[in-house]
Amino acid sequence: MNAPLKNDRLEWLQGPAAASDHSPKCSAVPKERTNPWRLVLLGSPGVGKGTQAELLTERLGACHLSTGDVFRAAGKTPDCDKSAAMKAALEFMRRGELVPDSTVWDMVRERSRCILNCGGFILDGFPRTLAQAESLRKLMEEGKLSLSAVINYELPVNEIVQRLSGRRTCEKCKSVFNVKERPPKVEAVCDHCAGRLLQREDDLPEAITVRLEAYERLTAPLINFYESLGLLMPIAARGTPDEILARTLEKMNAVTAEHV
Ligand code: ADP
Repeated sequence: MNAPLKNDRLEWLQGPAAASDHSPKCSAVPKERTNPWRLVLLGSPGVGKGTQAELLTERLGACHLSTGDVFRAAGKTPDCDKSAAMKAALEFMRRGELVPDSTVWDMVRERSRCILNCGGFILDGFPRTLAQAESLRKLMEEGKLSLSAVINYELPVNEIVQRLSGRRTCEKCKSVFNVKERPPKVEAVCDHCAGRLLQREDDLPEAITVRLEAYERLTAPLINFYESLGLLMPIAARGTPDEILARTLEKMNAVTAEHV
């Protein structure tokens, strides 16, 4: 059976350049829903957020909005097309450090149509600091929207390191595999689009340590922030991607039966 058509997320990945008139340019636009899911995914790097975001996207029909994917897509454009802020952002990323809040927010704000869309979204990798969470809150308040839930994927550090070092990403469609836990059918070839599977530069050992430290210091405080707003949904990130998805959907179902 052929895989369903994947949304190329052009408007999110390329920003205003892809949406110069008022019609969205993505290959698949989410259906308008009365009560769409608007989710934030939290969890340490390597916990499997990207994989779960893809599975949830297929299941819920919302847009997968990953800030890391935007930076990686920008990294592939010719140097002369990159702004100074983007060049600097890519250096932070290569070292495994967080990109400054102002750069991230400029990038997200110019893609606000993706967040304000009527089919919902799954934010993956944003917000990553309390300042970013506050910017998101204001944007959503202006659009009279609220988050449905914040899913926090939990996993012990030793398993996280194993996942990060085994991760391989498709250079074309960005699907994520793991050489141990979720291998592709053919080695180094994407199951969905036959693109080459590559190891991310920031999945090399030195960068992994920096990323885990940045997570503990700057992103982990968001857990308490969203818990105090009554939005936090902790999920054990153990097992296969499908098991984790089932656990997530079960919890979401318990929150409200009408969404799924
Ligand atoms: P991870 O697997 O580490 O969660 P991501 O794909 O979400 O990876 O992000 C990769 C890198 O992009 C981060 O390490 C960071 O340098 C940069 N980045 C992505 N999103 C943000 C953000 N919201 N704030 C700051 N930096 C970010």
